Amino acid sequence: MQQLEIEIFPCRTDNFGVLLHCPETGETASIDAPEYGAILAAAERRGWRITHIFTTHHHGDHVEANLALKEHFGCEIYGPRNESVAIPGIDRAFGDGDRFDFSGHAVEVIETPGHTAGHICYHLPDSKLLFAADTLFALGCGRLFERPAADMWHSLQKLAVLPDETAVYFGHEYTLSNARFALTIDPDNARLQARAAEIEALRAEGKFTIPTMMGLEKETNPFMRPADPAIRRNLLMESRTNEEVFAEIRKRKDNF
Ligand code: ZN
Ligand code: FE
Repeated sequence: MQQLEIEIFPCRTDNFGVLLHCPETGETASIDAPEYGAILAAAERRGWRITHIFTTHHHGDHVEANLALKEHFGCEIYGPRNESVAIPGIDRAFGDGDRFDFSGHAVEVIETPGHTAGHICYHLPDSKLLFAADTLFALGCGRLFERPAADMWHSLQKLAVLPDETAVYFGHEYTLSNARFALTIDPDNARLQARAAEIEALRAEGKFTIPTMMGLEKETNPFMRPADPAIRRNLLMESRTNEEVFAEIRKRKDNF
């Protein structure tokens, strides 16, 4: 089986457009639909026809182009069961643990409530790909709009068990601000210091930081590291639960 191909491009202010393409069948999935013109241009550039949209959550910057793309390509729209009423044009709804087939590749749905109540991530175990949208960012995690910190912490733990070599595609280029914040929480982490320097350089050249790797996130993303003794010491929270430490880090980021 040939490898799936991926095309990444900027949309709106700081969203990513992502197209996932199977060279054997020609099927192409747009991960979310942030901006019609940018997605259409990317598909045309590659000569791909969009057959699917994999929606992660209902926010406007992720579903805005659903209906226009469906109109243009006649594509099928998949999305989260727990907020399916808010997904324009949805054809099939998926919940936690559901699996479907994309061009012979298994896709596993992981429900990750937190940012929204029904947010889902799409995992392709054979290709080691995760489309995490606004749940897990490079060095960050999504804002808690619809669920409390405890739910988001639980969601991140579900992602953390995926293999370290999983490439993680996320919804927004927030990485520079995330890196600067991460250094305030975990200042002595050498891996994080090195990564923050790389990110400063990449962004100075206008380059994007997508994708990241699950193993790297586990080593450097403070939102995945509330159990870390140095972070706990730094926050004066040595005897608190992981959930409480996570909630504190999220609160500090909201005010950063
Ligand atoms: Zn969102
Ligand atoms: Fe978003």
